[in-house]
Amino acid sequence: MRGTAAPKHVRPLSDSRKVRKHHPHFQHYTRPHLTRSTTNSLNKSTTQKLGLTQDQFTIMTSDAEALVLSHDPHHPANLICELCRKFYTHGWVTGTGGGTSIRHGEHLYIAPSGVQKELMQPTDMFVMDFATKSYLRRPQSLKPSACTPLFYAAFSLRNAGCCIHTHSISAVLVTLLCEASGSGDVFEIEQIEQIKGVPRGYGEERKGNLGYYDRLRIPIIENTAHEEDLKDTLEGAIKAWPDTYAVLVRRHGIYVWGKDVAQAKTLCER
Ligand SMILES: [Zn+2]
Repeated sequence: MRGTAAPKHVRPLSDSRKVRKHHPHFQHYTRPHLTRSTTNSLNKSTTQKLGLTQDQFTIMTSDAEALVLSHDPHHPANLICELCRKFYTHGWVTGTGGGTSIRHGEHLYIAPSGVQKELMQPTDMFVMDFATKSYLRRPQSLKPSACTPLFYAAFSLRNAGCCIHTHSISAVLVTLLCEASGSGDVFEIEQIEQIKGVPRGYGEERKGNLGYYDRLRIPIIENTAHEEDLKDTLEGAIKAWPDTYAVLVRRHGIYVWGKDVAQAKTLCER
């Protein structure tokens, strides 16, 4: 059950200075962000535009930083960076393509757009309030990921805890093979060892895992010129295939989700 209480790993404001002082990422990489924030907190026109006092603006900036600063390696801001570094070594995220998002209570942590995935840092993360879709933290120098509405579809329609998007060459080739063979909008496979870790049924309806002689089916949707335009067809595929944990995007990659990071990562590796 998801609670409405504040995530336990998010440090309170009073602790944020300690984190800044000792957190390795913050010391070695995030100083430019701190400099920008500090500079902006001194910028009167910024506070005036937002209708805030200087003190209110400074407190908001500190709260936003506290959302992504934690010593816990399982904190979503740290975990997304670690996962993307691993996915980069697999060739699943290349350049700035692909991404990962984690739901943490009522907060969604989302990797930014246009950042080298293997070099991302916790302070690069966007944090969105699940209920209102408003950003609680938004790095000023970065753009939100175009995958955001697609990740949101997995969280809202499938109650996912983690959604991973990759540009895996294997996923792209599968969609091309299906196109060439005329099998259309679904990839089907059976009698292969790798499907044995895929759940049979979704969520509460799950009845164990697929067996060697079962058939795994993954819907394929057609690509669009802009990633965010995939939203409607991805949502349609999720609704049409209630048992699926993934949707392939032809000539593009795959979206995979799970109830938590471990399940999403395991399914992605299958
Ligand atoms: Zn993509």
